[in-house]
Amino acid sequence: MNDPLHISLAGNPNSGKTTLFNHLTGARQHVGNYPGVTVDKKEGTLTHNNHQLNVVDLPGTYSLTAYSVEELVARDYLVNEQPDVVVDIVDASNLERNLYLTCQFLELGVPLVIALNMVDVAEKRGISINTDKLSKLLGVPVIPIVARTGQGVDELIDIVLAVSRESEHPPTLLRYGPDIDQGLSDIVPLIEQNKLLAGIYPSRWTGLKILENDEQILDKAMGEDPTLTQQLIDRSETLTHHLQSTIDAYPEAVIADHRYGFIKSILRQGVVTRIFDTDRLYASDKIDKIVTNRVIGPLIMAAILFGLYSFTFNYSTFFVEWLSSFFEFLSSSADTMLPDGPVKSMIISGVIDGVGGVLGFVPIIMFMFFGIAVLEDSGYLARVAFMMDRIFHFFGLHGSSVMPFIVSGGIAGGCAVPGVMATRTLRSPKERIATLLTVPFMNCGAKLPVLTLLIGAFFSAHQARYMFLATVAAWIVALLAAKFLRMTVLKGESTPFVMELPPYRFPTIRGLLIHTWERTWQYIKKAGTVILGISILLWALMTYPVLPTDRAAEFDTMRQQISASQSTNNAAELLIIDGLEAEAGLRNSIAGRIGIGLESVSRYAGFDWRTNIALVGGFAAKEVIVSTLGTAYSLGEVDPENTTSLTDRLAKDAHWNPVVALSVLAFIMFYAPCFVTVVAIANEAGSWKWAFFSMGFNTLFALIMSIAIYQIGTLLGLG
Ligand code: GDP
Ligand code: MG
Repeated sequence: MNDPLHISLAGNPNSGKTTLFNHLTGARQHVGNYPGVTVDKKEGTLTHNNHQLNVVDLPGTYSLTAYSVEELVARDYLVNEQPDVVVDIVDASNLERNLYLTCQFLELGVPLVIALNMVDVAEKRGISINTDKLSKLLGVPVIPIVARTGQGVDELIDIVLAVSRESEHPPTLLRYGPDIDQGLSDIVPLIEQNKLLAGIYPSRWTGLKILENDEQILDKAMGEDPTLTQQLIDRSETLTHHLQSTIDAYPEAVIADHRYGFIKSILRQGVVTRIFDTDRLYASDKIDKIVTNRVIGPLIMAAILFGLYSFTFNYSTFFVEWLSSFFEFLSSSADTMLPDGPVKSMIISGVIDGVGGVLGFVPIIMFMFFGIAVLEDSGYLARVAFMMDRIFHFFGLHGSSVMPFIVSGGIAGGCAVPGVMATRTLRSPKERIATLLTVPFMNCGAKLPVLTLLIGAFFSAHQARYMFLATVAAWIVALLAAKFLRMTVLKGESTPFVMELPPYRFPTIRGLLIHTWERTWQYIKKAGTVILGISILLWALMTYPVLPTDRAAEFDTMRQQISASQSTNNAAELLIIDGLEAEAGLRNSIAGRIGIGLESVSRYAGFDWRTNIALVGGFAAKEVIVSTLGTAYSLGEVDPENTTSLTDRLAKDAHWNPVVALSVLAFIMFYAPCFVTVVAIANEAGSWKWAFFSMGFNTLFALIMSIAIYQIGTLLGLG
């Protein structure tokens, strides 16, 4: 066998790249990232007639400008990696728009084969395409396929192999009208003579990009030859002025118009019959009339989003509970099998709880991604974004931000981890980070027990109302925080809403399962290792230093006294001693000392050291807040007859009152996300910078809020 051939699959979003990629490579694939960005890079292999092929699924793009990460990734890949053949997947039912990208591949001069996909859909819509003619006019092979069934794929690979043997792939020369053409013939010879970016791009492409004012290419050119580049920029500016004053358009627009003109002229030459006048009457548009209707649209959307939400969190419950009892079983097995000591404690509280914490999210993530894949593959998600964009735009976010917010607990009870991962549908990096940083403000399922506890203890008269208020408050705070971030650290224009509204389609089960599994596996792989490490660290913080031996001995003595006494309540009394010892141990640990040390600040917000320890523990997982408060407040309860609940104990405690409760509530809602979320943020933002930022920013924000509540509340004498 020869060396493996490198094949890239390129095309518009939703043209069927992934479907073809899966068909070609089956299970022999893996997902990575392009260097430096969080765009998925899917690679796989296949063997065809004794030839080894290496296939890469490039990100879907409509163009090769420098406007989005995807576009930059795709074109850098083509230029730097120089694949042997680029397979351009073109949606036959949407030919005109898809060929716009094809046109740019031709201008770039890459070895190209066109896979004309979804010919089944085109046929159903009464569109027939003369592939021979199309191939002749474009000057590249065109193979009709149905990626979903694999029809035509063998022929496609045969042609790919044939094209890989050809050595020359000269760029196609398009005409862009007299002004641009004149501009090009001025600057292209200069580029050629000075070998500017030679060996990377064809000189005419470089010229076009300079006229288009393409930042990346200009930067590269500046790096190579600043004087020449400045000269070229000057000429380009003269041309821009000229076009502005004559036809009131920028060069990019003129170039785009001529590309479309090139495509139209090809399609008119008997390539397509019936495409233009029938397209708009098709089902998608009819569905959209209802689904994006001003009145009915939002109602349908609310119902569908609520459906997705209940699907995710209700149907996963069984698996979540199953996993948690499995890990409980592991813990208790380890408890009986291992000898007492630090190793046992680390294995139970560090390793098993840590791994259990990571895997505990898996069912939720799988269900959520499955639901999102249905909405995404069917084309509905784009409509949701379209409808929500107005509101979100106002806060510096994008219509696509709505899904992460809802999943994270926009309807109380979600989870920020899948919410953070759901920000992937956002394209603009700043809007994406603003969304990433604000979704943890939502009331996730782990905060609910704490909210219920505190509201139950201090505001029991209006429980439902306060729970509802907490949800509303979370939305308001998250959106305002987003606005604030977008006006400060993430300053920049909101991107206009240019998301395409692809036609509706029935998703395939295979496609849905692959999408779901890919994302879930990425979570397990990336988050798993880091989370295990941090979990062990947190365990150590809450365990060390251990109680000095004389203090431990005191508790042993107490236990012996109880065992020796004739009381009928021995078991309960022993449990209380265990609780007291755990409490003393926690107080003595590093986490405990931090909690005590923090009192100097937190007292302005009304928190004592016991609350502080619970909050520090809450960083491991918010559920821990309730159990840690439970441990801390069992202190002093030596009367075994006294079986009051934590709710009652807090309500009666001298230190607590409604103002303190409100202040603690606000803090818990808005302080640093749990560390699983923090790790997810680091992964999604591509750097730890934003993960640390979210911990610092949220905690500071929450602290200011709590201090304000406590001070004002106390001043008004409500405490
Ligand atoms: P990508 O965005 O380019 O990766 O597109 P996908 O591979 O995810 O495909 C988008 C949708 O089109 C999925 O629901 C596919 O099942 C569907 N699809 C892909 N190829 C075909 C095809 O040849 N015929 C039909 N009818 N549907 C297809
Ligand atoms: Mg895809």
